[in-house]
Amino acid sequence: MLKKSVVSAEDLKGVPGVDPERVAQVTQVYPMRINPYWMALMKSKGAPLIHQAVPREAELVDTPLLEDPLCEEKDSPVFGLTHRYPDRVIFLVSNECALYCRHCMRKRKVGKGAGAVTEASIEAGLTYIEKTPAVRDVILTGGDPLLLSDEKLDAILKRLSQIPHVEMIRIHSRVPATLPMRITEALCAMLSRYDNLWINTHFNHPHEITEEAEKALKRLNTTGAPLGCQTVLLKGINDEPEVMAELMRRLTKNRVRPYYIHHGDAVKGTGHFRTSIETGLAVMQGLRGHLSGLCVPAYVIDLPGGGGKVPLLPDSIISQNEKSLTVRGYDGGTYTYPL
Ligand SMILES: *Cc1c(COP(=O)(O)O)cnc(C)c1O
Ligand code: SF4
Repeated sequence: MLKKSVVSAEDLKGVPGVDPERVAQVTQVYPMRINPYWMALMKSKGAPLIHQAVPREAELVDTPLLEDPLCEEKDSPVFGLTHRYPDRVIFLVSNECALYCRHCMRKRKVGKGAGAVTEASIEAGLTYIEKTPAVRDVILTGGDPLLLSDEKLDAILKRLSQIPHVEMIRIHSRVPATLPMRITEALCAMLSRYDNLWINTHFNHPHEITEEAEKALKRLNTTGAPLGCQTVLLKGINDEPEVMAELMRRLTKNRVRPYYIHHGDAVKGTGHFRTSIETGLAVMQGLRGHLSGLCVPAYVIDLPGGGGKVPLLPDSIISQNEKSLTVRGYDGGTYTYPL
């Protein structure tokens, strides 16, 4: 199915509002890949799906932004591995994705030949983890780890599982949203053999939770790996509280626990997706209390320069004295909490 993906501008005929010439300019800098599943979804569901996949001129004009503001490269002891927090690493095991998201924070890398993940870089990463006892949690990402063959992924999971200090492995994949048919029975049978796995998906809009995606999530749930979701706050796509609430409800209905809503990082080529922090806080206000607590993820900003992720919450304390706190409830009412 991936081989039939749209990768050049002229194949985008018929998609509303697309100017092939402009798309072609962008694809010289950042690759495009829209697989047939997503193409069909764009046609039936419209703008939220189109904007995440079809290049826009704006990707070329946000020059003050940096390619790697989070300094993933600076905190990288070996190519493709970022060791920032004491006990966990990000490990790039694939350079490809089933769809190249226009908002990708690793836009500088994904889908590009230069600086790609190779067998040798994977080996170097595994060796680093083996030699570094502090690492207890390994996050497989990329690109998308589920674009590896079952055999390759199995080999990586096996190696990692043999390391005594590695207590857990996370797979970060957008495939359940972008190519749900990749979640095959064979893949899930392989994943089920590991009892140290967590799987974090990446859904951004309720329209991504199709019948096929629900089937994929159901299968993934049979592996025993707890499922989470990392959503990126995207201007014009999911920055309304109602849209985000619907997404969170549909995720938990499929037993996917929302983990993070990421504020869009200041990554070059993605500036047009960034919202204000107030917008993000308003979205959070629309979730907490209104929905089951299991539907409410943490809203995080990732500090530039490698400072790590920090959760942001709407202010709930209105005032405080020795005897009490004055607090805003989820319903907007004002309450006094005795101290
Ligand atoms: C986000 C991130 C992690 C994982 O953070 P958690 O809060 O544990 O999910 C690890 N390393 C880096 C560099 C990260 O950016
Ligand atoms: S699937 Fe993830 S890594 Fe790949 S382009 Fe989308 S956001 Fe980037």
